[in-house]
Amino acid sequence: GLTDRLQSTMQKIRGKGKVNEADVKEMMREVRIALLEADVNFKVVKDFIKRVSERAVGQEVLKSLTPGQQVIKVVKEELTELMGGDQSKIAVAGRPPTVIMMVGLQGAGKTTTTGKLANLLRKKHNRKPLLVAADIYRPAAIKQLETLGKQINMPVFSLGDQVSPVEIARQAIEKAKEEHHDYVLIDTAGRLHVDETLMGELKDIKELTKPDEIFLVVDAMTGQDAVNVAASFNEQLGLTGVVLTKLDGDTRGGAALSIRAVSQTPIKFVGMGEKLDALEAFHPDRMASRILGMGDVLTLIEKAQTNVDEEKAKELEQKIRTSSFTFDDFLEQLDQMRNMGPLDDLLKMLPGANKMKGIDKLSIDEKQIGHVEAIIRSMTKAEKEHPEIINAGRRKRIAKGSGRPIQEVNRLLKQFEDMKKMMKQVTGMTKGKKKGFKLP
Ligand code: GDP
Ligand code: MG
Repeated sequence: GLTDRLQSTMQKIRGKGKVNEADVKEMMREVRIALLEADVNFKVVKDFIKRVSERAVGQEVLKSLTPGQQVIKVVKEELTELMGGDQSKIAVAGRPPTVIMMVGLQGAGKTTTTGKLANLLRKKHNRKPLLVAADIYRPAAIKQLETLGKQINMPVFSLGDQVSPVEIARQAIEKAKEEHHDYVLIDTAGRLHVDETLMGELKDIKELTKPDEIFLVVDAMTGQDAVNVAASFNEQLGLTGVVLTKLDGDTRGGAALSIRAVSQTPIKFVGMGEKLDALEAFHPDRMASRILGMGDVLTLIEKAQTNVDEEKAKELEQKIRTSSFTFDDFLEQLDQMRNMGPLDDLLKMLPGANKMKGIDKLSIDEKQIGHVEAIIRSMTKAEKEHPEIINAGRRKRIAKGSGRPIQEVNRLLKQFEDMKKMMKQVTGMTKGKKKGFKLP
């Protein structure tokens, strides 16, 4: 995959004291192959390599004290730029309500994302959205939105499936004005492919409602297709943003990288699961880090902050930054993560987690977490705080005490060390990064 490929390339030059033009050339070749393999658009790759090469052989890199680091920095910055810089803002209409149209192909996640967005607008930004069921074609589409509305306790406007979508939208906006909703989220119908009937209908809704935002919802799993869909929707409707869904799945990073370059539309949000709180602002710089295999400590911390109490999160952040993270903290994290929801998501964000074989298993299997806990609880206080003192004898004792095989103890110790190392690296590089999502 892209991440692995880039990672091994980066590994090669990370430690380099000196980089010459030939090194840069070789690196760029690797990066190029990695991007093409990840299904990134050919022309996008070409432009990208050109820009990075120019900067990488420039003075800023060759003359610097740590050229290897500098090249990585350039690649990261250009990846970030490629994905559009920070774009995570939602328009606010001069006169409410702000109208947002959700469009996209069938199954992309429009209806789900409409629910998620409403949830986010209210929870994080204290807004009062009205959801509008304007997909009258797909059986049960209205019901689906109504069910979502119930789950988050928010009103859904519908007129059944016998009234035209345009008329539904019109009446919904009337109602939103009467009842002082500040946002109107219109969930529209999709088709299996881009077709004229669909576009015609969407254009009519656009014409009438004059939306402040038109968000295209695309499925990240569809790779290059997602990019083409984005380009054609933008041509016909003029998009203001893209929501890339199912990024929690097993997808290659290609779509995220080329969507903006090809469709001229920035990704604003990403869908990270089926649940209604699984919508996150898209941070190109973090995505770039993730692609480069450095994990996503900042997102992890942010998540911790909304779910765990503020004080504890600060403490954690401090510990991660200073690398004084002990097995006791690890235990506490396991506990808190359990309360935070899908453990897989969180673990995947840990730096280098994609490289840790064991952690993958650990994320799927609650039983495994129990085992990890048993091992940690069999450690003495000193061992938890200074794992480096755990020698062969101690390992044997811990294995016995926890009833787990010694290999498992070894693996956990190794993972913990790797994790700490990675954390140190990442926090060193991302320190001082500005925050992403803000409503104006
Ligand atoms: P629509 O046809 O565009 O309205 O798509 P739906 O909202 O009905 O979603 C289609 C399927 O994708 C549903 O099963 C959703 O639960 C699922 N889905 C939507 N967004 C995500 C996501 O971010 N991650 C995952 N794993 N599934 C998603
Ligand atoms: Mg739908």
